[in-house]
Amino acid sequence: MDLHFTPDEPTPDEQDAVDVCLAELKLDALWSDRSRQHRRHRRQYLLPLLHAVQGRAGWISPGALNYICVALDVPPAEAFGVADFYAMLQTRPHPPVALHVCDDIACRPHGAEAICSAMEKSFGPAGKSGVLGGARTTWHRSPCLGLCERAPAALVTIAGMTAGNPPREWSIAPVTAEILAAAPDAPAADLPQVADISLSVPQMGDPNLVLLRRVGRIDPRSLDDYRAAGGFLALRRAIEMGPDRVVREVIDSKLVGRGGAAFPTGQKWLGMRSAPLPRYLVCNADESEPGTFKDRVILEGDPYSLVESMIVAGFATGCERGYLYIRGEYPLATGLLLNAIRRCYERGYLGADVLGAGVRFDLELRRGAGAYICGEETALLNSLEGFRGEPRNKPPFPTQAGLFGQPTAINNVETLVNVLPIVIGGGKAYAAIGTERSTGPKLFCLSGHVKRPGVYEVPFGVTLREMLDIAGGTGGIGGTGRLQAILLGGAAGAFVTPDQLDIPLTFEGTRAAGASLGSGVILPFDDTVDLRQVLRRIARFFRDESCGQCVPCRVGTVRQEEVLHRIAEDRPIGSLDQELGLLRDLGQVMRDASICGLGQTASSAIESALARFPSLSIQGGQEKR
Ligand code: SF4
Repeated sequence: MDLHFTPDEPTPDEQDAVDVCLAELKLDALWSDRSRQHRRHRRQYLLPLLHAVQGRAGWISPGALNYICVALDVPPAEAFGVADFYAMLQTRPHPPVALHVCDDIACRPHGAEAICSAMEKSFGPAGKSGVLGGARTTWHRSPCLGLCERAPAALVTIAGMTAGNPPREWSIAPVTAEILAAAPDAPAADLPQVADISLSVPQMGDPNLVLLRRVGRIDPRSLDDYRAAGGFLALRRAIEMGPDRVVREVIDSKLVGRGGAAFPTGQKWLGMRSAPLPRYLVCNADESEPGTFKDRVILEGDPYSLVESMIVAGFATGCERGYLYIRGEYPLATGLLLNAIRRCYERGYLGADVLGAGVRFDLELRRGAGAYICGEETALLNSLEGFRGEPRNKPPFPTQAGLFGQPTAINNVETLVNVLPIVIGGGKAYAAIGTERSTGPKLFCLSGHVKRPGVYEVPFGVTLREMLDIAGGTGGIGGTGRLQAILLGGAAGAFVTPDQLDIPLTFEGTRAAGASLGSGVILPFDDTVDLRQVLRRIARFFRDESCGQCVPCRVGTVRQEEVLHRIAEDRPIGSLDQELGLLRDLGQVMRDASICGLGQTASSAIESALARFPSLSIQGGQEKR
């Protein structure tokens, strides 16, 4: 293949970053095979190598891109298209220090805009470069960083400019402009981490907890702690039971996917059992829905439970290789998972002979790089393969032709960790929790104007009112306690009114109320919040995150944001009614004609708010309180 390289050369640092990453990946066998199939497999390392250069130099220069492309046999034009796709990768010169300030819907009620204003005042507009603490620095507005229970949040990334000076990344929540200003000076050995994970689980210590029972109670780095708290019992039980029986228990449990689509997990696994080899297992840990942080809490508080559930899932579905795809904005969870995977290899829980039972399961972690759309399962597969994270047309479904064209089971973090209690307690016992059609325990992410924000575990079926009561009721820091609206299910979900608090939190209950559980977001807003501004932020989110592959979504999300901007500014083109009609038309077209769920749901929350809050549809609009 003619790859069309430019004459640009990598710097010694960039070259070293790529070489070190290649050595860590131990790809000699793959490299020596020049067959077409292995070329395809080599390309999967594009994103890890781009991360390596970004982490070393702060951006991906044309010379570095050439060097990567020579190693992978990928045309530089294509690799540039991939690098340019991800928000966390820079393809133009960029300072080594970047401060990412979340200005999304859960951080806004807690002062995110004030922090952004302070940054603008002291540093200049977002994207401007300057010097902070002696280091070249820039700052960016960021979509949700998944730290909503401690809002406002920020992510600091500092590229290592020389070998032996590793890149540093850490989250800060809650954050202030002053803390951010001091971040570049943070000593490498004393990085601030997110606060104690137990603060994210207000129910900690409740003996009824199933999924969260270990979070905050064990050292998430220690395999022995995990074992002492019941870890790996489910794996041993699964091996005794055999794969068919494990799948049968999962079917009996009526477990459905927790990522939003609610597909029956047991049916997916059953289909995999008879699919051709090789088969792959993929864990979708790319939770990026604004207001969602439940997976992060499990990954940071109980990372071995995910590794164990993936081994069980691999065993049950006959997959000998698994990939764990985690969002790039979760540095702490990434470090803890890498540690857990390493320990599991050392102790024989992963590898060629799991627990001496003749079962093979290898597990690799891959980092996303700031693209919400990669949470869509086929976009995630493309990202894993080293392509732009653009969704594929379905069918074929991933269980038929997924990763590298092979049958692939994709489950999200919460779905997978539910498998452990199913294996231990039996599918029928699990199905007795919750309701007939929504079984088991469910995690909800409460943030915004709520007194005790955090991840909560309840059986399906509690009402929205009960859920808010468990979280201390509406209010919280700076809140009035006068509830205005609740966003259910995230930016792709729907707003409900204070009159709808008796909605049962089940798939069927929320559907009947014209809402959805989505990713388990419950985000109350009190009457100090200007809902029109919230809708604008949601519209901007979808505009930014649309992959642009199909016209209805690419154009529709832009037009939707423009209309909301005009409405919020009280400057409609024509009458307000005409603008609202245009919004409805745009929503209809995106729903009907978009390829994937992003476009199909980009107008859901906005349309639900306009339908349920009449003041938003009145000229002059909502009072600015
Ligand atoms: Fe991409 Fe949007 Fe089309 Fe999905 S609906 S494929 S995000 S352009």
